[in-house]
Amino acid sequence: MKILVTGGAGYIGSHTCIALLEAGHSVIIADNLCNSRRDTIDKIINIAENEVTFLEIDVTEEQAVDVIFNNYKVDGVIHFAGLKAVGESVDIPLTYYYNNIVSTMILAKACQKYGVNRFVFSSSATVYGDNIVPFVETMDLLPTTNPYGETKAMSERILTDIANANPEFSVALLRYFNPVGAHESGLIGEAPNGIPNNLMPYVTKVAKGKLEKLRVFGNDYPTVDGTGVRDYIHVLDLAEGHVAALDNLKEGAHVYNLGTGQGTSVLELVKAFEEANSIKVPYEIVDRRPGDIASCYADASKAKRELGWTAKHDIITMCRDAWSFEKNYED
Ligand code: NAD
Ligand code: UDP
Repeated sequence: MKILVTGGAGYIGSHTCIALLEAGHSVIIADNLCNSRRDTIDKIINIAENEVTFLEIDVTEEQAVDVIFNNYKVDGVIHFAGLKAVGESVDIPLTYYYNNIVSTMILAKACQKYGVNRFVFSSSATVYGDNIVPFVETMDLLPTTNPYGETKAMSERILTDIANANPEFSVALLRYFNPVGAHESGLIGEAPNGIPNNLMPYVTKVAKGKLEKLRVFGNDYPTVDGTGVRDYIHVLDLAEGHVAALDNLKEGAHVYNLGTGQGTSVLELVKAFEEANSIKVPYEIVDRRPGDIASCYADASKAKRELGWTAKHDIITMCRDAWSFEKNYED
């Protein structure tokens, strides 16, 4: 199939483009490079030994999106393009609502106009809010604590309503848990601008000596060692999850958790990173970060049952691959 991948130059999108090419699909990337680099496109082509079409466009621009659908016979869309910094979304909510929701609506509109019925959407475990772990797809969603999370919940609603009204429209809403790691080549990986907000990129910067020490946000949560627990998933597994979702699309909107089902605390992750890479990660315990929940991990059984997909990489491999990317990466 010819797949339009919005945000395909980004962290998860670039790994997914490789998985799609390796599975025999062809790929059109639409990305405005607001949080990614053009040279990632060449790296995708090098790793997958296959061509991709790259279009530098903003997918909130309706005319530009229309031109893509008019010029290429698109069979399906994977919509990664979005802004994702939780803290920033509190400071500039309108930018987040506009970018993340308008892009979803414009792509859905183009799909309707051009009769494209396959749509895969990047959602997030954040839509569960502070629910009881493990998070199951059937749970009622709780409010998230930030505009970013709301853009995901709203985009899910919009796509579900469209699928309900147009039964031939097949949508997979993929709720990612915590993607980490990098391609085993070390060529592509997570490269946030500025000081990282997320744990793994922060840890790799500390290991590299670019940041002095990790600040562990709270050790008084009701968890195994008091630090926050998350379900870290290797980005390569996540990428495969998209191929599986695309291959198993069915009419209507269907939600899938993409996680490992395993929770790892902050201190467990630090220990795994030190062990995997034989390198020390200095840290100090500081106050909780506002808005954080204690534990977040998936019930990953639905994706296994319906998509035939499970995550394969363990936390040691995630730490090793995250570090091999960071070591080689030039800011
Ligand atoms: P990323 O920032 O690396 O990739 C997003 C890409 O979208 C970037 O290349 C950016 O340039 C592009 N983009 C943003 N707005 C655009 C627009 N209007 N038009 C065209 N391109 C645009 O982020 P990522 O980690 O790869 O995340 C991909 C998707 O997955 C996002 O929707 C994100 O919200 C979602 N998600 C990410 C995580 C995570 O922890 N990384 C977790 C859950 C969900
Ligand atoms: N965390 C931390 N120090 C950091 C960044 C994150 O202790 O510099 C903790 C955070 O409190 C949470 C876990 O690591 O318990 C994962 O945080 P991240 O921001 O990566 O993911 P999210 O909270 O969005 O799931």
